Amino acid sequence: MVSAATYSSIMLGNIRITYLPDGYILFNPMALFPTATAADWQPYQHLLDSNGQLVGSLGAYLLQTPEHAIVVDNGFGPQSFESDRFNAYGGELLSNLERAGLEPADIDTVFFTHMHSDHVGWTGHKVNGKLVHTFPNARYLVRSAEWHRFDNQPALRASIADALNLLEHRIEFVEEGEYIAPEVRVLATPGHTAGHASLLVTAGEERAIILGDIFHSALQIEYPEWTNTFDRDPEQAKVMRRRLLHELAQPSTTGGATHVADSVFISLG
Ligand SMILES: [Zn+2]
Repeated sequence: MVSAATYSSIMLGNIRITYLPDGYILFNPMALFPTATAADWQPYQHLLDSNGQLVGSLGAYLLQTPEHAIVVDNGFGPQSFESDRFNAYGGELLSNLERAGLEPADIDTVFFTHMHSDHVGWTGHKVNGKLVHTFPNARYLVRSAEWHRFDNQPALRASIADALNLLEHRIEFVEEGEYIAPEVRVLATPGHTAGHASLLVTAGEERAIILGDIFHSALQIEYPEWTNTFDRDPEQAKVMRRRLLHELAQPSTTGGATHVADSVFISLG
């Protein structure tokens, strides 16, 4: 039976990459992939739950390098959301961070692949009714193109207002090719959003690519051309999926695909 990914780690040399579940997401499959037909779905019924919804993971990554403790995205937060396109249920991130032996104050860097609500949900949380930074000692990093897509967009800002308010004076920009740690490089991978980024983690010959939302389902590994309704620029997103599939096919390369069910860690090489 398909399920959302559970807590798991991989080692890349002396770097530990841990998937920290925050909860799970259920996509309406026809809404997610409007160009796919019922016949296209026939061989993939095992990816659906008993109500016909596509099961997805919802969570974040912890990268522990010799010098840094980095959180990549931070889940949906302690909330649930239901709509005709998807349902999301979060809230478990901090208990999974504890399982990794860390407290929020130990995190020195938070990197956002992009700023959708299911990736910025634990930027803050309420303590005695007051909104505070969940990771008080972190520097917060994002590509400038991602941050600036909220400029003069009140409706868009409202969708993640708490996170934006908390980040206003804390956010720092990193761009394509820059390193957020000696082993971790930013890759600009626009398409899902204009400022979407992935991270390339390298240890000797081994590589991992934290993919963000390049893939929402294992189905898109087989069918990168399927239009995903959540991609802001569907054509650019298709180009990016093909590019990343090429990267993932290289030797000793593991991908981290945040919403893919069962395990977020995928290996094609
Ligand atoms: Zn997402």
